[in-house]
Amino acid sequence: MDSRIYLDHAAAAPLSPAAWMAMEPVLMHEWGNPSSLHKEGVNAANILRAAHESIAKCVGSRADEIVLTSGATESINLAVLGTLKAGSMRGKHVVTVATEHTAVLGAIRAAGADVTIVPVDGRGHVDTDAIISALREDTILVSVMMANNEIGVIHDVHHISKAIDAWRKKRGSVYPLFHSDASQAPNYLSVDVGVLHVDLLTLSSPKVYGPKGAGALCIRRNAPWSSVFGGGKQESGRRPGTENIAGAVGFASALSESVAIRDRESSRLLVLREQLVDGLLAIRGTTLNGDRIRRLPNNLNVAFDGVEGEELVLRLDAAGIAASTGSACKGGSEPSHVLAALGLNTDRINGSVRFTLGRSTTAADIHRTVFVVQEILEKMR
Ligand code: PLP
Repeated sequence: MDSRIYLDHAAAAPLSPAAWMAMEPVLMHEWGNPSSLHKEGVNAANILRAAHESIAKCVGSRADEIVLTSGATESINLAVLGTLKAGSMRGKHVVTVATEHTAVLGAIRAAGADVTIVPVDGRGHVDTDAIISALREDTILVSVMMANNEIGVIHDVHHISKAIDAWRKKRGSVYPLFHSDASQAPNYLSVDVGVLHVDLLTLSSPKVYGPKGAGALCIRRNAPWSSVFGGGKQESGRRPGTENIAGAVGFASALSESVAIRDRESSRLLVLREQLVDGLLAIRGTTLNGDRIRRLPNNLNVAFDGVEGEELVLRLDAAGIAASTGSACKGGSEPSHVLAALGLNTDRINGSVRFTLGRSTTAADIHRTVFVVQEILEKMR
């Protein structure tokens, strides 16, 4: 297994040893229920509080603004449903972007919202003016991701939030709220909610080298939001149910580590990613999908002429390299809605492969990947 090259960090990053070391004693020794009055319960509640505080520090929020969830999908559904519920007297119009993750597009659809989907340009960028033009008096929520999971393209969330704020101020309204799915961002970009100026922010633990089954929604204190789940008082009633304490501890540890090494790791991966881009683009019939500059430093999405991306991914796997055809969440062989939104034709979409680098990636991995891709393409074409 050691000799394998793992280039699918956008789907799931391996658990950080520091996160595991933080989790292990909690799993083994801190079995108390944080809602219990006895010592075991109080210990568990203290550990949980510390995890909230640590996550809050990473995003520049207050600890009580952090709601721990089972991951990004639950966080996004809470953001959408809770905002629509609180604003139901005003309307149910939501504005989002064509390249959002299916968790966002699906949550909005499932909530029965009236949705406007703003298109992106051929490089994956959304125009802030187009978002503002889509706003209506009954718009309750705008949701724009920080960085795309398939093509890594980064949206200027700060710029969009400022424009939304100006629109709100002109009308003396708190609406629309602004949510950003930052699942792919924290390893490489600041997710400070004060700087980003968002009302709601989604985070995912496995994307930051934390355990699966953990994530968070940051709900700013002035944002009108109503609980949608019935149950106990956990997470101040915003996410009832006995808390996943070890998951919270592992997530908090992993996120802090990601923030601490962000700049160093971003610079290191950018160099390797550029080597991979240059190496792959030198192969005949290869095209980059999405903007080359405004994208996450670990992401590369390329189209290979005349081949099926899925077959290439399977052949790479057999050769010891893990890559992907896009979002792991789509499943099956459904064509990528993200690449379609860039205006790519079916052949180019079907011939596309995503490589996402991570902490274990070395220059030798990049050289080998370019060599193996070239070898496989020669056989396939
Ligand atoms: N949003 C983005 C941008 C993602 O990349 C993912 C997972 O790939 C999700 C949401 C869903 O995350 P989860 O599967 O942890 O719920």
